[in-house]
Parts: sequence; structure tokens; C-alpha cells
Amino acid sequence: MKFYPHLIALEILFLLNIDTNELYEEETETFTDKAVLLFASAGTLGLFLKKNAGLTLARLKSSKNPAIRYARNLELTLSGSLSSAIMEKVESEFDGSSVLIKWITSSAHDQDPFHSLQYGKVMTLKQAKSLGLGIRFGCQCGFEFVKKSNDMKLTVLKKQLPKKLMKK
Ligand SMILES: [Zn+2]
Repeated sequence: MKFYPHLIALEILFLLNIDTNELYEEETETFTDKAVLLFASAGTLGLFLKKNAGLTLARLKSSKNPAIRYARNLELTLSGSLSSAIMEKVESEFDGSSVLIKWITSSAHDQDPFHSLQYGKVMTLKQAKSLGLGIRFGCQCGFEFVKKSNDMKLTVLKKQLPKKLMKK
């Protein structure tokens, strides 16, 4: 089964009925009531989203570009923050330093040249995360868990069993 953290993030935003166009009031330069409710109701995740949204807004406001697209930037920030949170969760649910994953090609139109070097590689979840899988800005890469073959386990068992029996 393939996992695309950024797609899961977008699905969460959709399920929460969050339209990123409705989170920020450009005229008054404030978060809308809807955004305030989202940040307040999502616990630690809400605080995390609020912090990242705030950082993005600060960055946008200091920009001299007159054609800033606040909603688009906020969408990228929120989906990126969720994607990072998903990777944190996956790493804590599984043993990130021992579970193996295979890096799946990004679904992005513009491929990240650094991440494209990782496609198809097998590594621990922790290594993949440290290389920015699901975390690097705009990352749309995916991964799948690499299962250890049951046959392999059986072979190992069969080899070990007679020795153990002989010792008795
Ligand atoms: Zn990527």
C-alpha cells in the first residue's frame, strides 16, 4: 500500500471542511472566525497549524511582491504542516529507526531534484524523514512499507531449530 503524506493532509483539510480561501481576511489582515475555530478545536495540532500559518503570513507581509496569493500560500503551509505532523505520527507509531520503507516517486508536476535521487530506494523511515520525505516544503513524495518476507523468517527458524534441539 502506498502512502502520500501530502494527499492525506489535503484529505484531512477536505474532511474538516476547510476552504483555505476562508481562513484569512486580507482587508483587515486577520484570521477569520473559521480559522480561529479550527486552531482552537484541533488541540496541539491546531497550535502547530496556527504557528506555521502565522510564520507564513509574516513572511508574506514582508515580501515586496504586490501579487501575493495569501490563500494559496496558506494552503501550502497548512497541508505541509499536516504532512509533517502525519510523518511524526507514523514514526512514533512504528519504530522509525528499524521499519523499512521504499521511497515512491513524487506526484508533483515539478519534481524536486534532490528527492528524485531517492526514488525507489529502500531505507529506514527515520532516514527518509531526515531526508525530508513528507516534510520538505512542497514534498509530494510517497512511501510504502517494505515487508520482511515470512519465508525468510521460516528459513531462519528451520536452520536454528535443529541446533537448539541438539543442545538439549
Ligand atoms: Zn519529496
